[in-house]
Amino acid sequence: MMLGWLLARAGVTVVVLEKHRDFLRDFRGDTIHPSTLEVLHELGVLDEFLKRPHREIREITGRVGRETLTLGDFSHLPTRCKFVALMPQWDFLNFVASQARAHSTFRLVMQAEVTELRESNGRVRGVVATTPDGTIAIDADLVVGADGRHSDVRAKAGLVIENFGAPIDVLWMRISRNAADPEGLIGNLDAGIVFVMIDRNDYWQCALVIPKGGIDDIHARGLPAFRGRLRSLVPFLGGRVEELHDWNAIKLLTVVVDRLRRWHKPGLLCIGDAAHAMSPVGGVGINLAIQDAVAAANILAARLASGRLSDDDLARVQRRRELPTRLIQRGQLVIQDRFLRRALEHRGAVKAPVAMRLLQRFPVLRRIPARLVGVGIRPEHVRLQGSDFRVPS
Ligand SMILES: Cc1cc2nc3c(=O)[nH]c(=O)nc-3n(C[C@H](O)[C@H](O)[C@H](O)COP(=O)(O)OP(=O)(O)OC[C@H]3O[C@@H](n4cnc5c(N)ncnc54)[C@H](O)[C@@H]3O)c2cc1C
Repeated sequence: MMLGWLLARAGVTVVVLEKHRDFLRDFRGDTIHPSTLEVLHELGVLDEFLKRPHREIREITGRVGRETLTLGDFSHLPTRCKFVALMPQWDFLNFVASQARAHSTFRLVMQAEVTELRESNGRVRGVVATTPDGTIAIDADLVVGADGRHSDVRAKAGLVIENFGAPIDVLWMRISRNAADPEGLIGNLDAGIVFVMIDRNDYWQCALVIPKGGIDDIHARGLPAFRGRLRSLVPFLGGRVEELHDWNAIKLLTVVVDRLRRWHKPGLLCIGDAAHAMSPVGGVGINLAIQDAVAAANILAARLASGRLSDDDLARVQRRRELPTRLIQRGQLVIQDRFLRRALEHRGAVKAPVAMRLLQRFPVLRRIPARLVGVGIRPEHVRLQGSDFRVPS
């Protein structure tokens, strides 16, 4: 959607196909990073965006055992917004869609599921999609697979995937929120349990990290035991854990970390999770996906507008974005394997690891995780293109 907006703004005719009828999927995280807010500023729509309901997270905090620790401090970021905005992703996507629709070159087709690539002479030339009104075929100079971690586009394109494994999965559930509860994002770590709570105003979107394949064990222990565990970990939830009345209220999300060797082939490019599925660790996948979109627009817009797109342009997008992706994925894998896996296996009292202790003792170090989460590596900036570019105030 972001790439569609940026290209349409630069005068390129774009069709975005989304297989669902709306964006009400609640499994993609709610973090709008300072770097994304910077992009919105560069596009001249930041103030309008921030009028939408959101929470502002200025520090990364977490509870380890009985201690509350500050792990990151966004106040020193070199960005206009020194906070992560928490907003349900459907609100963000609806905002992006409404901005993109202002361009006559942009079209969004909902309930259009890409099922085939149209190829001839070794080149992708469009897609086939199913819609409630039947099958449609769309010809295109470029097809961009931005269809997430189970990408159909990359599968149809036969691109080679390297899978790095993930020792964790996530259970995803909602518990109502009282006005007296704390605000923002709460991470809880205790003996054998990692539980993250995202403030969505009237309810908590909760993520329980479990060992991969551990769901059968959790089911075998029973729902009352599961609720009891959450209640003792987060006492202020009290009787609200009873809202988890059956296992249907608790969804299993599989975590995948992988990356394509080549993100492109003639006429086709993958970006975001379709090119590199991100773990939820650190909450940075949305940032990377948006940064990919900005980089792709910067590199490709003029070439597409003039009909001079070459395969090397697509390779340039991968060259630009591969290093940040590799580094962040490496960091996620280290945290998953060395920290989360051990934390989940641990049965005694939990103590904060040395790295977390250092962050308490030397607050200046908290700028490092804040930078990695808030901005990432090699931040992208919107190039001044498009006839209606609005100069940010
Ligand atoms: C449990 C969990 C929690 C996470 N929490 C966070 C977080 O807090 N912060 C963060 O930054 N990252 C988080 N992530 C990672 C983040 O969700 C992804 O990195 C990010 O959503 C990738 O964006 P994307 O646009 O590439 O793909 P997606 O967000 O997956 O979007 C892909 C879109 O393509 C559509 N689509 C799929 N197939 C087709 C098709 N055939 N035809 C048409 N449309 C199709 C889908 O419906 C979807 O709308 C989390 C991941 C998990 C698993």
